[in-house]
Amino acid sequence: THFGFKSVDVEEKQGKVAEVFHSVAAKYDIMNDVMSFGVHRLWKRFTIELSGVRPGQTVLDIAGGTGDLAYQFSKKVGPTGKVVLADINDSMLKVGRDKLTDRGVINNMEFVQANAQYLPFEDNTFDLITIAFGLRNVTDKDMALESMLRVLKPGGRLLVLEFSKTNNPVLSKIYDTYSFSILPKMGKLIANDSESYQYLAESIRMHPDQETLKAMMQNAGFERCTYHNMTSGIVALHKGYKC
Ligand code: SAM
Repeated sequence: THFGFKSVDVEEKQGKVAEVFHSVAAKYDIMNDVMSFGVHRLWKRFTIELSGVRPGQTVLDIAGGTGDLAYQFSKKVGPTGKVVLADINDSMLKVGRDKLTDRGVINNMEFVQANAQYLPFEDNTFDLITIAFGLRNVTDKDMALESMLRVLKPGGRLLVLEFSKTNNPVLSKIYDTYSFSILPKMGKLIANDSESYQYLAESIRMHPDQETLKAMMQNAGFERCTYHNMTSGIVALHKGYKC
């Protein structure tokens, strides 16, 4: 940072991420279904189940995008609870807000434009924080994890749903071909945007594996950290508590 090198990288990454999500926002939901063959719905359903969220609780969904998790949480916490959907990108946030408003979710829902590294909330605010397919886009992940810990209530939990490393060599090969050859072509075909999907494939490959992310959560101060592999580790759900 002192010599300006890191800040150039940081700006570059943030700029790229912003560009990608402005570009994919309108087609985001359909692309998600097509690219994952609908399986992202199962990964998210499992996340909701594991969250153990209850009526009256306060939930923060970071990098919440088009609001898949936030929508389910708003039903679970009910009128006495509260859900905050935070995302850095106003295009994604707008698609999410419009979708959830159409579905009649307004009473217990708030939309906030925020960077995961600098969460604009009081200390000890949330019972549950989730970040789904978002952490790999964050420039300084350690900083983001510390920020999440700060705004979590003592006893509260963080769930990180993210692409990870598969332990199945055959699947790994298929998956690599899929991500780097097929995915950008599908992006071109459906959203007329191969570059964004190329970026997404690269960001998945660069993301820390299961044990590394678990260690990062522990370093940030989370306790009782565990993870659960889904689809042979293509995706993992990490969980940690604030004590
Ligand atoms: N959570 C949603 C889901 O699972 O469908 C959206 C995931 S989408 C792949 C990633 C989201 O992360 C985008 O909406 C993007 O704007 C957001 N994002 C990227 N960097 C961020 C940051 N530093 N802070 C907050 N959100 C960020």
